[in-house]
Amino acid sequence: MTALEPSRTEVERWLALVGRHVLDHVDRLPTMGSAGAGEAGLPRAEALSLPIPETPHSDFETLLQHVVAAAEVSTNTAGPGYLAYIPGGGLLTAGVADLVANWVNRYTGLSAASPALCRLEADVIRWLARQFGYGADAYGLLTSGGSLANFSAVVTARHAKLGDSGDYRRARVYTSAQAHHSVSKSVALAGIPATNVVSVATDERLRMRPDAFDAQVRADVEAGLQPFLLVTAAGTTNTGAVDPLGPLSDLCQTHGLWHHVDGAYGGAFALCETGRARLGDIDRADSITFDPHKGMFLPYGTGALLVRDGEALRAAHQADAPYLQDFGRDGGLPPSPMDFGPELSRDYRGLRVWLPLQLHGASAFRSALEEKLALAQTLADAVEANPGLELVDAPQLSVVPFRPNRRDAEPLEAWNARSLALCEAVNSRGRVYLSTTRLPHPEGEVVAVRACVLSFRTHDEQIGFAIEDIMAAADC
Ligand SMILES: *Cc1c(COP(=O)(O)O)cnc(C)c1O
Repeated sequence: MTALEPSRTEVERWLALVGRHVLDHVDRLPTMGSAGAGEAGLPRAEALSLPIPETPHSDFETLLQHVVAAAEVSTNTAGPGYLAYIPGGGLLTAGVADLVANWVNRYTGLSAASPALCRLEADVIRWLARQFGYGADAYGLLTSGGSLANFSAVVTARHAKLGDSGDYRRARVYTSAQAHHSVSKSVALAGIPATNVVSVATDERLRMRPDAFDAQVRADVEAGLQPFLLVTAAGTTNTGAVDPLGPLSDLCQTHGLWHHVDGAYGGAFALCETGRARLGDIDRADSITFDPHKGMFLPYGTGALLVRDGEALRAAHQADAPYLQDFGRDGGLPPSPMDFGPELSRDYRGLRVWLPLQLHGASAFRSALEEKLALAQTLADAVEANPGLELVDAPQLSVVPFRPNRRDAEPLEAWNARSLALCEAVNSRGRVYLSTTRLPHPEGEVVAVRACVLSFRTHDEQIGFAIEDIMAAADC
């Protein structure tokens, strides 16, 4: 053992300890409670801070227990009762992939440096593209998440439709008020004023209205502006609303706009039959964001961008440098991730998707996603059957938005307060964890409670708890 290279015996002992302590933690997830650490967790967070020593810490096991304790001062995003925001995943098989990827630590920015590993990642990207109905010209990029996938999509659309003049003052991007905030952030990062993002009206189910989009684009063209990009949602974060993708693709074709679908949350439902049908003509879009760290249950740090014409993605991102000249760049090599996105050095994300698909088989993901849609429907049916509750919308995917019924002549603030109290009452029982949002309403914004079913660990049992706890809270 040298200062930085532990002995094999040592590492094997550490692995056994990781196996024990981390797997014990995973076993405890269901009983750990789902609610956030909240303010009560803050003193513990302080107490768990450790100084960085000049000399080695002598006890790996103590450090490991320390880290596991730190993980437990948190919102339990990995637990089965987590139905708030968008649930996280954490397939153990993906964690094993990360360990292997980090230990072999090969360079996967450039495929000439590790052609076989890059081949495996390219196989994953092509397989994903096929799941959405894309053809052989499609390609994509594994990113750190949906935000960065949306960013590269905006950059690609900008390059394809506006070129690189640098003058984007008249450029117009269309999305709805239900779009994720990463869309306008991406537009700003891409050098286009965020004020050039136009919010298109939605219908009663919070889906973008094609007629409103059409009228807006026509008016903007008339005004001398440059409409170039539409960003729709395949599953909004608020309610899981799916915009009418086919009719909107038609309009994009008519007006010459790039159509990007933000499916960070909902895109994964393309993997199952029922979900694929609900995503409509998603394959007609020019590009699709989806987050394997949401709907494919992988650990955080795994997003994806798929582009119908992979060359458009490359054209917007390819660059070269003299110090890379020793690497071959063609000759049958698999695509290099550096040519398709902003990063050069990067973690080997491909294995984190590839190994779980190999070990579980694609059908395990398909049936888990079918199960999530069915569980959301079960919960929605129970909400609808309770006379004290109002189902805001039938689940378009796996989000169930609801609130208490409004009382006669009840002021908006009082109604909203009762919605927040209902959510708090459910969360305080600690079995499931819900979140709230605000949705448009004729009188202004109205609070809705939402349950999002997306964890691979959430099954009938937790939906049963959710129904019991919501009903108990609705009756008080
Ligand atoms: C989660 C989400 C994003 C952002 O993805 P990150 O992986 O958190 O960066 C974008 N759009 C939608 C619809 C989302 O649900």
